[in-house]
Amino acid sequence: MSGPNTSYDPVEVAALDPAQLEQAVTDALAAFDAARTLDELKAARAAHQGDKSPLALANREIGALPPSAKAEAGKRVGQARGKVGQALKERQAQLEAERDERILVEEAVDVTLPTDRQPLGRRHPVELMAQRVADLLVGMGWEIAEGPEIEAEWFNFDALNFDEDHPARQMQDTFYIAPEDSGLVLRTHTSPVQSRSLLERGVPLYVGAIGRVYRTDDLDATHMPAFHQIEGIAVDEGITMAHLKGTLDRLATELFGEGIITRLRPSFFPFTEPSAEMDLRCFVCRGADPDCRACSGTGWIEWGGCGMVNRNVLTAAGVDPDRYSGFAFGMGIDRALMFRSGVSDMRELIEGDVRFDAQFGLEV
Ligand SMILES: [Zn+2]
Repeated sequence: MSGPNTSYDPVEVAALDPAQLEQAVTDALAAFDAARTLDELKAARAAHQGDKSPLALANREIGALPPSAKAEAGKRVGQARGKVGQALKERQAQLEAERDERILVEEAVDVTLPTDRQPLGRRHPVELMAQRVADLLVGMGWEIAEGPEIEAEWFNFDALNFDEDHPARQMQDTFYIAPEDSGLVLRTHTSPVQSRSLLERGVPLYVGAIGRVYRTDDLDATHMPAFHQIEGIAVDEGITMAHLKGTLDRLATELFGEGIITRLRPSFFPFTEPSAEMDLRCFVCRGADPDCRACSGTGWIEWGGCGMVNRNVLTAAGVDPDRYSGFAFGMGIDRALMFRSGVSDMRELIEGDVRFDAQFGLEV
């Protein structure tokens, strides 16, 4: 303390009292210690180090002291403020470290935990194959057409040159829609799209159709009451069977790989004349293994039916068969998928087990 000073006002400079300063420091340190979070520390800092804190007040009052008292009071206040500042800094660092530690724990990711992520969806292999065929046809300048699955009997049979008493019309092959005289069936093939396209689009016509068809087969390893077909029809001037063969070869290469050999075998369908079955060279054994399961040792795999569009079909659609000719083909997608990918049981295609679909890879 300095000597007696007549202008000293004990009220005015109460904040400079050493005991009070000491108390202010003690209070500040206790408050910082008590702060459990950075927010609490911020509040403590405002109270004990802010503009209105006892120490700030004391600091301001130094100016009012006579010069002889300033140095000592300044030193004392400075030391007090230094102590408080240091304590604040330390507590601040401590709380920040605690916060960081907590964040590390709370936001830690255990990469070894099993994931709850949903597996990605996949398109069904039947859909993938259908889409691949559609892409190929579109690439050749064809259009893709659709027809109803509940079809007029006339489009399903009559327009395609099926006789009134053709066995395919029998109830044991075809689903008829009630009542009996409705004239409607669940289409038994995608071929009605041929007639519809001829009528709606006229000629020249290059159209592919892909869709679900129905037959009254029981569900077993090689039959399904509902399955999928690819259909194609081309009608133009000067279309020959060579165009048919070329188109089918292109399709076979696309679906089964380069170098696949095809052959046409005489057959009969009401809506094509001449008609043929198309076979693929067995791509498993290439005809070299008499015990081959894929081709039953024949070296060939039946793929589908085809032929030149019957004149009666053209006439029924109002197309002049003397000027125009065309070819048509149809094959089962499910069956093609089975022998291409070695699926032994057709039911696997419709059971909806994603583990089955996943084997065909992820394609979108
Ligand atoms: Zn074979």
